Amino acid sequence: MSAPAAASPRAAWRLLELPATGHRFVHTSGPDLDSTDPATGETVARVRTSTAADVDAAVAAGRAAMRSRWRDDGALRGRVLYRYAQALRERVDELAELLTREQGKRIAEARAEVNGAANHVEYYAGQARAVHGRALPLGPGVHGVTLREPVGVVAVITPWNWPLTLLTRSLAPALAAGNAVVVKPASLTPAVTIAALAPLAADPELPEGVLSCVVGSGDVVGTALVTHPGVDMIAFTGETTTGVNVMKLAADGLKKVALELGGKSPNLVFADAPMDKALAGATAAAFSSSGQICTAGSRLLVERSIADEFLERLAERVTALRVGDGLDPATDIAPVASRSQQRAIFDYIDLGRTEGEIIAGGTPLTDEKYAAGCYVPPTVVTGLSPQSRLIQEEIFGPVLAVQVFDDEDEAVALANCTDYGLAAGLWTSNLQRAWRVARELQAGTVWINTYNRFYSELEVGGVKRSGVGRQQGQVGLEEFTEVKSLNFDNNPTLW
Ligand code: NAD
Repeated sequence: MSAPAAASPRAAWRLLELPATGHRFVHTSGPDLDSTDPATGETVARVRTSTAADVDAAVAAGRAAMRSRWRDDGALRGRVLYRYAQALRERVDELAELLTREQGKRIAEARAEVNGAANHVEYYAGQARAVHGRALPLGPGVHGVTLREPVGVVAVITPWNWPLTLLTRSLAPALAAGNAVVVKPASLTPAVTIAALAPLAADPELPEGVLSCVVGSGDVVGTALVTHPGVDMIAFTGETTTGVNVMKLAADGLKKVALELGGKSPNLVFADAPMDKALAGATAAAFSSSGQICTAGSRLLVERSIADEFLERLAERVTALRVGDGLDPATDIAPVASRSQQRAIFDYIDLGRTEGEIIAGGTPLTDEKYAAGCYVPPTVVTGLSPQSRLIQEEIFGPVLAVQVFDDEDEAVALANCTDYGLAAGLWTSNLQRAWRVARELQAGTVWINTYNRFYSELEVGGVKRSGVGRQQGQVGLEEFTEVKSLNFDNNPTLW
C-alpha cells in the first residue's frame, strides 16, 4: 500500500467571509472587498467595507464609551489587555496562517509577528495601572498636580506590511491610557486585522464602543475618519506622502497626530567589524520580510578596504536565498504583497541596471511555479551615485543599494544623505567609534552590531521625513495622553 501523499500546506483552506455575525465592533454596510493571496492570486477573504455612516457610528460609539468607567479604571484596562495578549498567543497558528495567506510573508515571520503583537499588549497591560502624573510644591501652601488623561477617541490607521504588530503598537498604549479606538486597516490586510481584534472585542469586561473597526480605502474611509469632528487623535503608520496628507487633513481640527512613516535606512559596515556577523546582519536587514519593513537596512555602506571581499560574499549569500511560497518553511524570500508593488520594484531594478551594476538577482523568475505569485528575486545593486532614486527613495522590496566609503566622516555624510531618518545600523568592534557615529546618524533608532531588534520597552520613531512622535515604551504610552494641570492654593493669607 502506498503512503498517502503529504498534505499541501494550502489543502485545507476555505474562503473567509468577514465580518461574520458576532463581529459587532466592525461597522461595515458598504460593498465587498476581496483580499487576495500574493502567492497564488486566489481570493483569501471577502470583507464588507464601511460607508461614511459606518464611520459616524464607530466614532459615536467611541465617544459614548469615553463616559464609561474605562477612562478611570486602570485595573480594568490591565485585566482586559492581559486577557487579550493571552488570546493572541493561543491563536498564533491560526492568525499566522491567515497573515501569510493575506499578506504573503514567511510563516515563521508571521508567527513572530503574532507573538510580537501579543508582546506589545502584554507590556501595556502592565502600564495601564501606572498612568499617573506628578505632584509639585509650587510655593507656601501652593501645590500643582498633573494628571495624565486619555486624549479621547483615537483613530489607529495601519499599513499592510506588519499589520498586527503595528496595530497593537498603537492600539495597546491607546487603550492602556483609557482612550476609545477606531481601527482602520490597510485594504490589503483587513481579514487578519479583524480576526486579530475579535478576541479583544469579545472580552466580557470591555465596555461597548471602546473598540471599533472600519474597513475601506484611505481616500474614502480613511479621510472620513481623520476629518471626523469626533476623532481627537490619529495614530498613523504608513508612507511619508500619505502621512503628510493625513497631517494636513487633521490640521483643521487641530487633532493630535502620531506619524510613523517611511524610511531608507543606512547600514554601515566598518573594516573593524566582525565580518561574518556583519554579513549575516546586512543580509537579514535588507531581505527579511522581502524588504517590506519600514526600517529595512536598504542601503548598505561598506568601508572601501573590505568592500571587495564583503560584496563578493554578500552576493553569494543573496543568490543562495530561496524564493518561494510563504507557507513553505524552506522559503527565505516570500512574494511581495501585491502586483502593483511587484511592478514598482522591478521598475527600480531596471533603473538600477542602467545607473549601476547588479551583483545579485535582478532578473524576473521565469519558472512556472512563480507565474501566479508576486515574486521578486533578492537583488543587490552597486555603483550608484548618492542622487540615484535607488539611494534616495523607499523601494519597499528585496532590493539592496550599496555604497562604499573611505572614512568615518564620509560614512556619516552618505548615511545622512536622504530625507528619511527612521533607523540606521552600524557594525564595528570599536566602542568609541560606535558611540561617536551613533550620535551623528540622523535616525530615531540606531542598532549597533545588530539590526531590526524590537522590544516593547524601547521607543521607536522617526526624525526628518520619517515621522512625528514615538511609539513603544513609556513615551509611547504618553503619546496617547494629555496632561491636565491642577493648581491648589491652600493658603488663604496669600490673597
Ligand atoms: P500607505 O500610506 O499607503 O497606507 C497606510 C494606511 O493609510 C492604510 O490603511 C491606508 O488605507 C491609509 N490611508 C491612505 N490614505 C489615507 C487618508 N487620506 N486618510 C487616512 N488614511 C489613509 O502605506 P502602506 O503602503 O500601507 O504601507 C507601507 C508604508 O508604511 C511604507 O512607506 C513603510 O515605510 C511605512 N511604514 C512605516 C512604519 C514605521 O514604523 N515608521 C512601519 C511600517 C510601515
